[in-house]
Amino acid sequence: MFSVDHYADGRIEVRREALTGIAARISPERIQRGISPPYVAAPDESCPFCPGRLEAETPAFADGTRIRRGESVTFPNLFPFAAWHTVTVITRAHSVERFTVDQLADALSGLASSLEGQADYTSMNWNFLPSAGASIVHPHMQGIADPAPTALQGRYIRASAAYRQECGRRYWDDLVDRDSASDRFLFEDVIPWFASPVPVGEREVRGVLPVTTVGEVGPCTRPLARGILRVIECYRSLGTRAFNMAVYFGKKSDEESFSAFCSIIARINPNPASMTDSAFMERLHCEPVVMTLPEEFGRYFRGEAESGRF
Ligand SMILES: [Zn+2]
Repeated sequence: MFSVDHYADGRIEVRREALTGIAARISPERIQRGISPPYVAAPDESCPFCPGRLEAETPAFADGTRIRRGESVTFPNLFPFAAWHTVTVITRAHSVERFTVDQLADALSGLASSLEGQADYTSMNWNFLPSAGASIVHPHMQGIADPAPTALQGRYIRASAAYRQECGRRYWDDLVDRDSASDRFLFEDVIPWFASPVPVGEREVRGVLPVTTVGEVGPCTRPLARGILRVIECYRSLGTRAFNMAVYFGKKSDEESFSAFCSIIARINPNPASMTDSAFMERLHCEPVVMTLPEEFGRYFRGEAESGRF
């Protein structure tokens, strides 16, 4: 389900996913550049997401309310880039050492309910820390809904439908069968989680949800929260605190062929020199250069998880 080409005497792998044609370049040697410095939290006195300021500085929905689940608060994005764009502030605390399952499950549940009944194609997203694109450090997720899917979401939805037509099976069932038996397998807790064979970013992990639409995600929010926490704890053990996450949903008519899935990638830590791990290959060629072999990551995760570390 993916092809591998070796370049430069086997020092570089170029992998291409058969379903979508998405490609990634894996160069384990590049980790020696050591570009991710240790994480240092920075305070922010003027944060609009801290309690007190949030009520005064963020918008409410048309009926004057915000969605509150546990600590989390969900409201419309003041600066939207989608037909429907919501923000979920996850915690009351401005900086959080470790999230709890309740905190994440409540936030995911509030965010999902802000997307239900909106435009057809939805996703739940999270940029954590400025080096992962968060303009506000206070932990928050974002939900978007549009009449058309995003480029990557659409690529998977269309290719999944074509696969179903051609093979008579769901791609996602075949993927879970194949990756459960590979070194990329991490764990299964309602949702099976794997290191993605053709990563779109560093140490990409994917979890395949047993649902298609955002309206069905309710019972999955706790396992989803548990899974995300284990993955980011593993990233932390490898020295990176920043990450991006997306959960892509389809619409009702996609359910024969498409499963909602969660993708998480590790990002380098915030740093004063503004070093970044997104450069011309990622942004202008849409072909990530990563340092970690997915099979290597799977072995690391399972090995360390055995000792109860995450
Ligand atoms: Zn804050």
